[in-house]
Amino acid sequence: MLQALNSDGELVTLYNLSADRLSKLKEEGRFYCPDCKEELIIRAGEKVIAHFAHRKKSTCQHGGEGIYHEKGKLDLYLWLRKQGIPVKLEFYLAEIKQRPDLLVEIGTKTLAIEYQCAEISIIDMKKRTESYLSAGIVPLWILGGNKLKRLSSRVLKLTANDASYIHQFHQHFPLSIYYYCSTQKQFIFFQDFSFLSQTKAFGNLLILSIEKCILKDFFTLRKLPTYHLLQTWRHELQKWRNRPVPVHQKKETAWRQWLYLQGLNVQTLPYFVNLPIQCGFMLKTPPWVWQSRLYLELIVKQRKFSFRNAMDILNTQLYPASHFPLIHSTLHPIKEYFQQLERIGILKSNKQNIYVVIRLTV
Ligand SMILES: [Zn+2]
Repeated sequence: MLQALNSDGELVTLYNLSADRLSKLKEEGRFYCPDCKEELIIRAGEKVIAHFAHRKKSTCQHGGEGIYHEKGKLDLYLWLRKQGIPVKLEFYLAEIKQRPDLLVEIGTKTLAIEYQCAEISIIDMKKRTESYLSAGIVPLWILGGNKLKRLSSRVLKLTANDASYIHQFHQHFPLSIYYYCSTQKQFIFFQDFSFLSQTKAFGNLLILSIEKCILKDFFTLRKLPTYHLLQTWRHELQKWRNRPVPVHQKKETAWRQWLYLQGLNVQTLPYFVNLPIQCGFMLKTPPWVWQSRLYLELIVKQRKFSFRNAMDILNTQLYPASHFPLIHSTLHPIKEYFQQLERIGILKSNKQNIYVVIRLTV
């Protein structure tokens, strides 16, 4: 942690002290954890920003995220101060029992910034997010650059765990996920993405050095031009159709067998049974798996169906909405899929939310 209590009960930081002063404090100073009140040690060196740490045996949760995290937290703190933004470091919010890395005041809004470099459970993340929201505080989670899994210039791998950190500040805000690398001193903004598979997200990826950024950049809408997505999707579709499936991919093999029993195969499936979906991460199966079930059971067999019918089929394949506490609640992958099918002229919906198939080929 960057702050600790001294023997007079005052909060102290170390990053701005000279080497002489630091070594003196290391020998004579007594510092205590603001949470558990245990005595702390000072960690400092040429490559390490000066900070406090618990002794090895400690079980305290506060400040246990390592040097990469401490460095990044300090970078963000100084970066905000440089912009003249009021910011508090490791400030304890007693009423919700939370200590965000940074607490920021902008106008009438309060922002809790969590710089998350270590793995935490979705339950913990959800709990912290919900408690900020309940106190009227906007949570902003920035993941450590060490968690970034970049597959190409516009593609990231986002696991179900990563997906909990997807933000959507309001209904018209594109899906966004943020990273900061404290080694490279860079922000990574990934926005307006769609899922080409269960974990492969294609979108607008922007890497900016911290010096070139301001806080407002987090709330800027960066759209991805549609033709980029179309082009990549066509290419991916071709690859997917021609890809042999290794036997160890049991789920994919089982799905292909199921498809075969329906008298179909990946070559004969219409292209709209594998559409990229923005909130595809809300499902536990790849787009072609859940879309093919809707295609065969509703579009081909029923011809006329409701959203409820679709939910009955896919209910067990959806993550609960609470899995994604930073997302506006109106987003739904099945609704999004049906909207796409309406756009390309396969379906038409009426006011009662009944979908009718207009045609099966385009
Ligand atoms: Zn402690």
